[in-house]
Amino acid sequence: MTENLISLIERRPGVRDRPLIETPDGRCWTYRDVLDLAGRLAGALLASGARRGDRIAAQIDKSPEGFALYLGCLRAGLVFLPLNPAYTSAELDYFLGDAEPAVFVVRPEQERALAPLAAGIGAKIMTLGTAGEGSLPATASKATVPADENPGRDDIAAILYTSGTTGRAKGAMLTHGNLASNAMTLAETWRFAEHDVLLHALPIFHAHGLFVAANTVMVAGASMLFLPKFDLDVVMRLLPRATTMMGVPTFYTRLLGDPRLDRGVCANMRLFVSGSAPLLAETHRAWQARSGHAILERYGMTETVITTSNPYDGDRVAGTVGFPLPGVELRIVDPASGQALPRGETGMIEVRGPTVFPGYWRQPERNKAEFRSDGFFITGDLARRDDRGYLHIVGRDKDLVISGGYNVYPKEVESEIDGLPGVVESAVFGVAHPDFGEGVTAAVVVQPGQVLEEIEVLKALEARLARYKLPKRVIVVTDLPRNAMGKVQKNVLRQTYGDLYRRLAG
Ligand code: AMP
Repeated sequence: MTENLISLIERRPGVRDRPLIETPDGRCWTYRDVLDLAGRLAGALLASGARRGDRIAAQIDKSPEGFALYLGCLRAGLVFLPLNPAYTSAELDYFLGDAEPAVFVVRPEQERALAPLAAGIGAKIMTLGTAGEGSLPATASKATVPADENPGRDDIAAILYTSGTTGRAKGAMLTHGNLASNAMTLAETWRFAEHDVLLHALPIFHAHGLFVAANTVMVAGASMLFLPKFDLDVVMRLLPRATTMMGVPTFYTRLLGDPRLDRGVCANMRLFVSGSAPLLAETHRAWQARSGHAILERYGMTETVITTSNPYDGDRVAGTVGFPLPGVELRIVDPASGQALPRGETGMIEVRGPTVFPGYWRQPERNKAEFRSDGFFITGDLARRDDRGYLHIVGRDKDLVISGGYNVYPKEVESEIDGLPGVVESAVFGVAHPDFGEGVTAAVVVQPGQVLEEIEVLKALEARLARYKLPKRVIVVTDLPRNAMGKVQKNVLRQTYGDLYRRLAG
């Protein structure tokens, strides 16, 4: 099998004439349009001095041209390094200093502000705007298209900085083999075919939108309705034309909040996929009732791409992420000893397989610590498998609360709180406590117009959870802090309420 995404796309007979991208304003791009532009952009990057293996950092808004830049890097053997447009210059300073890109592509209006940063690391600054304007496309229009470098399986295709919710981000290196293998497996498992139209409202600076959604579409020769961002009205308007959607849980909760969502608008749909953060079982049920579709929840991370999925045929069980994908070896181990645990016990998820990344950019020590000697990657996620083999994620290892010497898995407490009348969602986290080491703490969002007293929550939980798992404090909040992918930022909660118990003690 070829292990290079571009050749996987191009080997499909007649694919160049097929539609790849349509934007909400009705502009259409065939595979030929996008691949030809990718070739010219690659030419422009090479003409600007970039060489095979060099990093190309891009802090740009989502657009077909920005997407073509990614493909241009892949075909030229350049390493694509997308950066969240929300990053500040202080954050960029760290990423650029670490990655040392040859070229830094920015939004035209940011060129002046970011030029000193680029100069500081010797990168050439180029611009690309959402209307296809800027110095990069201008250079591309005159550039000669270079020969396809045809990178190999182990060559680095992209670096994505990750783990912004827990400490300093690290650059996860993904190889061409990782991307190709993930796209092929997902296209097959989720039955993607040429007639599929994916509603693409995810960002493309993250693995979900770039690798999971877009690559899967392309290896199947399918097409995308390519939205600059998730906009409820635009999604509602385009849903009837789509056959599939991949989203983060907040897409689904926001759509459920719209009275226009019904079986009619989903009549053309065959598959809704959710991931990047836990989907509430309640959302799964409500979605099925309103749309007639059981959302397929899957699990993965930047470092491993997608490793488990609920079945396409068969029960898609709410609150679970299904089974390991073909080719993925997954085990649940005691985090301390690395010993495999019996089914039903909660432990660390470790994975090995063709989609697992080779390591973090310039982090040899961390790479030693985060891989076992037999090649399994220690994901940092805790989970258990039920009697039927379905995987239940209970949260990040770092989010585990140790109170009075006992392990409290936040998900277990959150599930109980979420089941209480009037509760929308909750987040359970640990905060330093003078007696218990950490105090179990819950932030709870209640439905508009509802009042929920701390004492009521505690009373209700008392009958359902062992005493040591009970929150010491329940704080009613209007919403939970989330990052761009909809993940709850427990580090922000821990920081905000960091002296909750110290204040009590004092
Ligand atoms: P990222 O690298 O940004 O994609 O984040 C990966 C992390 O998101 C994983 O390590 C999990 O903690 C979390 N995650 C992804 N998918 C799910 C899911 N379906 N349920 C629960 N957590 C998830």
